[in-house]
Amino acid sequence: MSMQHTFGTFNRDSGSLTLQGTARTTGKLLATQGYVVGIEISGSGARQSVALADLEGKILYRTRRPLEHVPDTETVLKLIDEMLAETLTPERLSDGRVLRVGVAVGGLVDASQGIVRTLHHAHGWNDFPLQDYLAKRLDRPCIIDNNANAAALAEVVFGAASGPDSFQHASERVALYVGLGRGIGGGLVVNGKIYHGASSTAGEIGHMLVKEQGPKCSCGSYGHLEGIASAQAISRAMIGLSVEYPETEAAIRRVTGARAERITAEQVFRMAAAGDAVARGIIQEVYTYLGIALANIVHLVNPGVIILGGQVAQAGELLTRPLQERLQDLCLKAASQSLRVSQGALGAEANLVGAVTLALQDI
Ligand SMILES: [Zn+2]
Repeated sequence: MSMQHTFGTFNRDSGSLTLQGTARTTGKLLATQGYVVGIEISGSGARQSVALADLEGKILYRTRRPLEHVPDTETVLKLIDEMLAETLTPERLSDGRVLRVGVAVGGLVDASQGIVRTLHHAHGWNDFPLQDYLAKRLDRPCIIDNNANAAALAEVVFGAASGPDSFQHASERVALYVGLGRGIGGGLVVNGKIYHGASSTAGEIGHMLVKEQGPKCSCGSYGHLEGIASAQAISRAMIGLSVEYPETEAAIRRVTGARAERITAEQVFRMAAAGDAVARGIIQEVYTYLGIALANIVHLVNPGVIILGGQVAQAGELLTRPLQERLQDLCLKAASQSLRVSQGALGAEANLVGAVTLALQDI
């Protein structure tokens, strides 16, 4: 599969990337020729991808190998090897060599050490030194980070917060990215840099407690945001609750082509908008508890923009508008009046573009 894509242009005011100029803080001269490689490893196995991009972030080639199961290290590293071999052909590298590799990992990552702490429910990943492993294997500098952090950076550099008006009049350019996928991840980008915190767990907002005695979360605890507002939580609630409502069951069969187990969060939002009472109840919970979590974050970090990504964000304005209104209600006016809630611009490619963006940092 070969595709060409451009995701906007660099915004040198909002991003940390500068492609033109003279020397960097490292003292190195800027590279003007060459490529970077982005690698995406999802925690569920659904997406293992490799992309080759030029130094402006334009993806020249990408390949993807989905897995049906949660990926162990051996399987994933073998797939990555195969995808790299497929991607890095001499014809594609005619204009220079690969300068750096970025990896977006759907798990807990210690970015300062380059270690994957854990991929939930997967074998072989605990404290796996992925950064060193790939750097040695490819003989190139490599940088790894959590996928929500990578997507956050990508949305700031190339996506929803890359425009010149993204942080108008802001004294600090603070963007919060919320990835509402199978799980929930968050990433904070402050003045063009990912904010990692003391031990690289900043942004793990999926595990914020928002509802005591709430549903069980993937981590085993109860009442976490991820157990209510992730794509999986929304679909699961819809399937579970519909059992007692024949009309809702029939509606689910209609929108899924009789494959109820495949109902997506976006479809639940659309059913709610069309008046289905069960769907409305579920979506109301999402607005309520996602609203609480985001309002609490807003009061702590005062972001200029909140970018919603992942499958749930495919609901578009059905998600962003009520949340924006809810934040106006819940937050101090001084904190919320300049706050913008946006759907991510990179869609399902945010993590892979994120991996490319990681690789492009400081080149
Ligand atoms: Zn949790």
